[in-house]
Amino acid sequence: MHETFPHFDVQQAIDAYLGSVSGAIRARSDAYDEGQAFWGIVSTLVGLAVTFALYHTGFFRRLRDGVEKRLPRWAAVFPFFGLYMLVSAVITFPLDMWTGHFREVQYGNSTQSFGGWFGEYALSMVISLIVGGILVTLLYMVIRALKRSLWVWGAGLVTAAMALMMLIGPVFISPLFNDYTPMEQGPLKEDILSLAKAAGVPADNVYVYDRSRQTNTISANVSGIFGTTRISLGDTLIRDATPAEVRAVMAHEIGHYVLNHVYELLLEFGLVIAIGFAFVNGTFAAVARRGGERWGISDIGDVGGMPLLFALFSVYMLVMTPVTNTIIRSNEAEADAYGLALAREPDGFAAVSMKLGAYRKLDPGPVERFVFHDHPTGRDRVTMAMNFKAAELAAGATDIDPSMAPLVPEVERYVAKREADRTAKAGE
Ligand SMILES: [Zn+2]
Repeated sequence: MHETFPHFDVQQAIDAYLGSVSGAIRARSDAYDEGQAFWGIVSTLVGLAVTFALYHTGFFRRLRDGVEKRLPRWAAVFPFFGLYMLVSAVITFPLDMWTGHFREVQYGNSTQSFGGWFGEYALSMVISLIVGGILVTLLYMVIRALKRSLWVWGAGLVTAAMALMMLIGPVFISPLFNDYTPMEQGPLKEDILSLAKAAGVPADNVYVYDRSRQTNTISANVSGIFGTTRISLGDTLIRDATPAEVRAVMAHEIGHYVLNHVYELLLEFGLVIAIGFAFVNGTFAAVARRGGERWGISDIGDVGGMPLLFALFSVYMLVMTPVTNTIIRSNEAEADAYGLALAREPDGFAAVSMKLGAYRKLDPGPVERFVFHDHPTGRDRVTMAMNFKAAELAAGATDIDPSMAPLVPEVERYVAKREADRTAKAGE
């Protein structure tokens, strides 16, 4: 007699999990996700239209003449940038308000009042003006000194600035928006710390932040660089996910940490930015010439050309969307595989991936996935999890629940609760 292995059907389990977010709720999350992509493109196009309209009126030419008359050329860069950003922000504010706040309220994601959102929007704006102003001042020094090799030095400068922001972000900027506290003592923390220890992640790098202040979406992340690298869990994750799901998510985040994704992304994006500078350098003069007298741009070192420089860069980044999304998505898939192997919670990972499906499209077509998705889709994730489960069960694992899709009721409970909250809020 040989023992027969209990039957586990991968496809049936995948279908059961994907079926746990269905009907009107599935339609709404698809619409939300498709809208994100749509409004992202609209924002870029509106930004371009605003830039060209302001050039057409001669606004940027006059602004440059105004600041350069009062200040030395290098010092005029910061105020030019600040005023240009403010004017653009005022014009695009209705759109930012819709995508940043009212749309999130409509889909039941936001937990903020308009005032709460606006306060954070204004704070982000101030931070961007200061950080961006310093960066463009340095960038224009580089452009004016090293026109020919701009693409190398410009990309180096921007990459160094990204690294610096990642270093100081968790310490100085994130705490302006949320409270970060070391995770509370308890069995879940013990669990996470033992996962972290097994992966060689220092224990004091696990934090909880009050994500529920802004949104009810569940999330965790790895941030920082060198000494400031840390893993942060949203309080919404602890509230809305079972311990098995939290373990699955934490193991994924630990994967990012162990696989050095922060450094890898910095290098890859540095390369993308270098190619972007080369593109801007190669097209700038021709476009500036077409603008003629009205635009009044002399050369690429002219601060009056800054909005054009940004516009060309935004066109480049829009075209590069599938590339940048694929770079990120590949890392995410690696972290998924690492996390499954570390936590050994295939059902927890499948369930939490379905919960994310309350606002992410679970099963897009291949082209849509390639172009717009910067994470593996719900289908990708549940497929990986169930293949892992099948392989482990076949190998005789006894720590994995052999039943088909045991956390489907948990997903259905979460989705129903979220829907009830949304309806209740809409009725207020
Ligand atoms: Zn991730």
